[in-house]
Amino acid sequence: LFVTFEGVEGAGKTTQIVRLATRLRSQGRQDILVTREPGDGPLCRELRQLVLDPPVGVSVDERAELFIMLADRSQHVAHTVRPHLDNGGVVLCDRYIDSSMAYQGFGRGLDRDAVASMNAFATGGLLPHRTLLLDVDPGVGLTRQTNRTRMEAEAIAFHAKIREGFLQMAAAEPGRFRIIDASLPPDNVHDLVWEAVQDLLDD
Ligand code: C5P
Ligand code: MG
Repeated sequence: LFVTFEGVEGAGKTTQIVRLATRLRSQGRQDILVTREPGDGPLCRELRQLVLDPPVGVSVDERAELFIMLADRSQHVAHTVRPHLDNGGVVLCDRYIDSSMAYQGFGRGLDRDAVASMNAFATGGLLPHRTLLLDVDPGVGLTRQTNRTRMEAEAIAFHAKIREGFLQMAAAEPGRFRIIDASLPPDNVHDLVWEAVQDLLDD
């Protein structure tokens, strides 16, 4: 079972993913892997550092940004996500293909068909069973953040495009996506997250 969490900065993805994992474990599922993109594992950690905190004075080209994210994803899927799924485990991933579409496609304005086919190439077509979009006004999300990266320091208009992109993708794929109101208190968001995966746990 493969579940991904998406949303703008400060939506609460990291908090909610841990809470979902804890609740699943408390119900006896021990095969749960919590992971994230970009930055899981030694190679991806370097890639994350490169793209979010590049050497001083370097302006990262938009296509280069996309390729670094895709390099991270290829490595992560091959070495972490797929092996765990193949063993019958549950993978909960903080950001995945939809973040590339939202940030580099909708946000940076790169060709969205190209992003889609490169996502498919990077992952070998591996899609999540469910994607939880933690939706919040980016103004609210950003005020929840403390240490700002290159991405978080972008103008609010950039983050607004990303939120709209996520919502558009969710509307286009209602079977995979669930939209969750992440402006609510964490306990309420958790309840909604829990509800949004129940149909996957039944069988
Ligand atoms: O907090 P988090 O680990 O999600 O931070 C990852 C950062 O990378 C975020 O600032 C996000 O904007 C950025 N990112 C991106 N493109 C992606 C995935 C993440 O710009 N495809
Ligand atoms: Mg986070």
